[in-house]
Amino acid sequence: MGKSDRGDIRISFHLCKGCTLCVAACPSKVLTQGNALNRQGYYAALYSGSGCTGCGICFYVCPEPDAITILIHKEDAVPGKSAA
Ligand code: SF4
Ligand code: SF4
Repeated sequence: MGKSDRGDIRISFHLCKGCTLCVAACPSKVLTQGNALNRQGYYAALYSGSGCTGCGICFYVCPEPDAITILIHKEDAVPGKSAA
């Protein structure tokens, strides 16, 4: 885990519609569009595996329910706020 890896995300390969809104919106530029078709026939977005800050922007721009899950590392949680 690198210094900026305050968060982590999971993208559901089969729920993603490949719209790339998350790819464009991610300020850390850690998301890309993959080159494998999912079962819906879309090229799903992929996380590079490092550099996520846990900002949540990708989650809020994604139009597909449950396609993106954000995890915030506990050691970076603000006191009084909950974290995964
Ligand atoms: S939570 Fe923020 S930094 Fe992490 S992948 Fe989503 S938009 Fe990028
Ligand atoms: S915004 Fe959601 S549906 Fe669109 S590419 Fe990203 S994860 Fe897939």
